[in-house]
Amino acid sequence: MTLVDQTEPAAQMTTRNPVDGSAVATYPVAGAAEVAATVARARAGAEWWRGLSFADRRAHLLHWKSAIAQRADELASVIAAETGKPHGDAVLEVMLTLGHLDWAAKHAKATLKRRKVKAGLVNYNQHATVGYEPYGVVGVIGPWNYPFYTPMGSISYALAAGNAVVFKPSELTPGPAAWIAERWAETVGHDVLTAVTGDRGTGAALVAADVDKIAFTGSTATAKKVMAAAAERLTPIVAECGGSDALLVAADADLDAAADFIVFGGMGNSGQTCAGVERVYVVESVRETLVSKVVDRARRLRTEGADAQYGPMTLPSQVDVVRRHVDDAMRSGTVVLGGADSFRGRVIAPIVVTDVDERSDAVQEETFGPLVIINPVASLDEAVRRANATAYGLTAAVFTRDTAAANRAAAALHVGAVSINSVLGFAGVAALPFGGVKGSGFGRIHGADGLREFSVVKSIARQTRKAALNLLTMDRTEKDMHTAAKMIPMLHGRSKPPRHSTAG
Ligand code: NAD
Repeated sequence: MTLVDQTEPAAQMTTRNPVDGSAVATYPVAGAAEVAATVARARAGAEWWRGLSFADRRAHLLHWKSAIAQRADELASVIAAETGKPHGDAVLEVMLTLGHLDWAAKHAKATLKRRKVKAGLVNYNQHATVGYEPYGVVGVIGPWNYPFYTPMGSISYALAAGNAVVFKPSELTPGPAAWIAERWAETVGHDVLTAVTGDRGTGAALVAADVDKIAFTGSTATAKKVMAAAAERLTPIVAECGGSDALLVAADADLDAAADFIVFGGMGNSGQTCAGVERVYVVESVRETLVSKVVDRARRLRTEGADAQYGPMTLPSQVDVVRRHVDDAMRSGTVVLGGADSFRGRVIAPIVVTDVDERSDAVQEETFGPLVIINPVASLDEAVRRANATAYGLTAAVFTRDTAAANRAAAALHVGAVSINSVLGFAGVAALPFGGVKGSGFGRIHGADGLREFSVVKSIARQTRKAALNLLTMDRTEKDMHTAAKMIPMLHGRSKPPRHSTAG
């Protein structure tokens, strides 16, 4: 595996287990020179990789996938050690991620191979095709909350589209990055996938390096810095950022299912899920029943000991953000579970607050902790309006037995993905693209759109014969121009006004 050049003594960082503070491993902090050297090696790898056929790349990717799958439990331990999440959660993360890798490897050819498009009547002598070619080297910058699943949403699709990848993981969780880069080196090699470990300076160096695209996943604030820096070289980016996602509950919803999913989506992974449930809007008539079902379930969660259902906060400073949001929510709202005494060092027990001021930071900003806010609304329409009224737009969920109402709400929600009668239902469906709008970012990972995100579109028009009416010449005749002028109304001037046209 190539982590970083060891030509000069590099700074080091030691990761720690959030559960007990014990040291996990030590990694180099790559500086600008090491990052540039890694990108240069990746560029050579990119040439080799793009030269392979789709079938060969698919075979290599599936071989790498097998190597990961055969040691999945070991990878889960690496994930759990640095995030502090339960081992079972890490196992599920590995499973979910490999499903995406499998899909990307198997669908790259059908999605990206050169295809013929209709050239149209006037251009009958052009054979027109569209192809999707690799960018070259993609720099992937990842967060710590799902240190395998989240960056792999970019890495799998970028590799399957024929790019080399240099991956800069979060400074809190370099373990999975180093581990998957090792499996790559053993199975495929050629520096097509390498990891550079380090802090935000390493990330900034990757953005400034000779990369052809940046795939960033992290906070909205950092995305703005990355985008500004990428603008220097006009490097395109895809930005997967934070959210303050809402779950909407109609009067006819299955309230047990809704409560289960609220607790899973709001408290799972200690609430450190970009598309987790932060806000619930429930129709007034069922609010009391829903709140008591949520509280019942959340109260039973085990947060300490060997069988804890979620771990401590991975990022120590996140505890203060959650505390600030809980204090803020408590100022206007009613605490129905937990509160100030939920904070036990880095472990935060579940907190549920109702009737919170919509203008508060607790509602408007991303909390990223096990706090769920439940506010009553008069109707599903009002729930949609409130859900849309933040600066974010990552995902949302709707609970109702009325499919037409669910579809109407889904259409009106200003987000990148919607689950109906579940939460995060889209995350495991590899064919579904994932990404946000507004402050939650732009561009898409996963699915065919994810493959295209990491591709440069190239159009080719091949002239098959001389045109009968040749207008693309400096020697065009008066007669040709006369024919062209007559063709314009024939080709484009024959549509009728729309039936309900209001124009005078
Ligand atoms: P962060 O923004 O602090 O850091 C993300 C990455 O950016 C890290 O690797 C960090 O080292 C790097 N970085 C920091 N400053 C940089 C700079 N100036 N230039 C280049 N790189 C830089 O985010 P985090 O705390 O690691 O992750 C949590 C955030 O990620 C939350 O907001 C969460 O919602 C979001 N997230 C979004 C998704 C998604 O798919 N939309 C998925 C997971 C997490």
